[in-house]
Formats: sequence, C-alpha cells, structure tokens
Amino acid sequence: MRDNEERPLKPSSYIRFWGTRGSSPVSGPQYLKHGGNTSCLEVSHHQSMIIIDAGTGIRELGNLIDLKKHRLFNLLISHTHWDHITGFPFFKPLYQSECQVSVWSPIGFEKSTKELFKDMLAHSYFPVRLDEMKADVTFKDLRSDDPVSIDGLIVDSHFTNHPGLTVGFKIKTPEKTIGYITDNEVLFNYHGDPCEIDQNHPLLKPHLSLIEFLKGCDPIIHEAQYFPDEYRQKTGWGHSSISNATALIRQTGCKEWIITHHDPSHSDEDLQRKMALHEKMIEESQWDIQLKAAFDGMIIPL
Ligand SMILES: [Zn+2]
Ligand SMILES: [Zn+2]
Repeated sequence: MRDNEERPLKPSSYIRFWGTRGSSPVSGPQYLKHGGNTSCLEVSHHQSMIIIDAGTGIRELGNLIDLKKHRLFNLLISHTHWDHITGFPFFKPLYQSECQVSVWSPIGFEKSTKELFKDMLAHSYFPVRLDEMKADVTFKDLRSDDPVSIDGLIVDSHFTNHPGLTVGFKIKTPEKTIGYITDNEVLFNYHGDPCEIDQNHPLLKPHLSLIEFLKGCDPIIHEAQYFPDEYRQKTGWGHSSISNATALIRQTGCKEWIITHHDPSHSDEDLQRKMALHEKMIEESQWDIQLKAAFDGMIIPL
C-alpha cells in the first residue's frame, strides 16, 4: 500500500474475535478460513476495553496491542475449562511492570479463581508463577444479576447450562448491548424440530431466565456447536445442537446472531455446511435474523 492511499480505519467501537474455536485449539489447512484459536473476544468502545476469556486467542491480542496506549486490562472469565484460560500465561501485558490486569470471574468455582490460576501456573506446568509476573494482577468477583461498571462499560452475567460453574455475559455500550454465551446446552436431550418449541414448552422452562437476560442484545454471540446428528452422540456434553440453539435465540427477539465456539472436529467445509443447514432452519421457521459464523480476526463495528 502506498503512503498516499487511504487505509481502512478500524472503527472506534467494535468487537473483535481473537479465538473462535471451542474445546481445543486446532491447526491445519482445513481450518484456514475460521482459524484455530480458542475463545477470546475483545469489546472496545473508544478508550474502554474489555476482554472476555483467555483462550489461545488472547496471545495475539497481547502481542499486537499498543502498550503505550493501554496499561489497564480487564479480563472476564466465563469458566475455567482449558479452552477459556490456556492462553493466559502467554498474554504479554502480564510481563510488563507498568500494566495492571484485573481478572473478573463468578464466585463458586471449586476454588477461588486466584487459586485455580495459581495452580495452573505451578512450576511443573509453566516456568513463571503467578506471583512472579511483573504486572499488577488482581482477581475480582462478579455476582450474577448484579451489573458492574468496568472501564465505563456495564457488565452483567448469567449462569448457563454447562458442566461446572459457567456464566455468559452481557455488555452494554452506549450504542449497543452485546450478549456472549459460548458454552450452553439448550433443551437437554431434545432432538426435534425447533419450530415445535414455543415459549410455554416445558423444556424451555430452565432457560426462561436466560432468555429474559438476553432480550435487547444485538448482536448476540451464542454457540451452536453440533449438527443435530452429532448432538444425539454428545447429549450432556454441555453444548447445543444448531436446532436447539435456534429455538432459544428465537425467543430472545435478537436480530443479529454470531455463532462462535466452533467444534474442533469441524473443518471450514463442515462449518460452511453447518451454516447452510442453519440458514435453512431459520428460513423454515420464518424468522428474520442475520446469521454469521465468527472467525479468528473478525471485527464487527458497534
Ligand atoms: Zn468452551
Ligand atoms: Zn466449557
């Protein structure tokens, strides 16, 4: 690009997906389009920034961020399964003495989040212990249904249906409210048509509070990890079939849905096939929603 050519400007308010893979990072020619890093999302609104989850995607975020402009980092953790924390030790700001990193997480994990991170960074697993990191690292509690202001953005959380304690987040910027739920098994053991599920269906009952929580979110980021056939084999694993996720999101009234937390066994081709099936399902239910499959590096202006 020549100097006098206009460069595309990054919007001042946006979300950026740094990792869109669930369960395990992947690599190989079959994953080039969507990428292989695990969960990490940046929400930036002018000078405010929140990072959600520290999957392997957080490494690149930390490497590319301008540390002269950013010294304070707020990291929200949805839960402590590997795919959401394994990038943490590779987050560059942790090794800069002028940086502060606040880790926000719900109360009620098996141990405190600080203890879990300390265990993860035991010398047998990694050469730098938590208390040897140069940044000022603090751990803060999030209480479900008790929104907090973090770096000028309002953050709320809600439990999801997933093995172990797991939350999803809602982040309010002055323009938009973003919903983020990566691990959530909806309509346990249901293998039928999503159109059969109306708001009074008994299987939807355990999710009614989450549906209320998500109303008004646009975009909504929610998994739909399995093809319907796969869900028959993986019922109880903590993730949703595309049909069951569709039945849930339909009740929220959201207009823009971004699918993330892609299954590690799904190649780009599989994801394309999955999205085509998903589009067809939505068309059949005569529902007006914009559907997108997230990929590593995807930026959505707010
Ligand atoms: Zn996950
Ligand atoms: Zn999980």
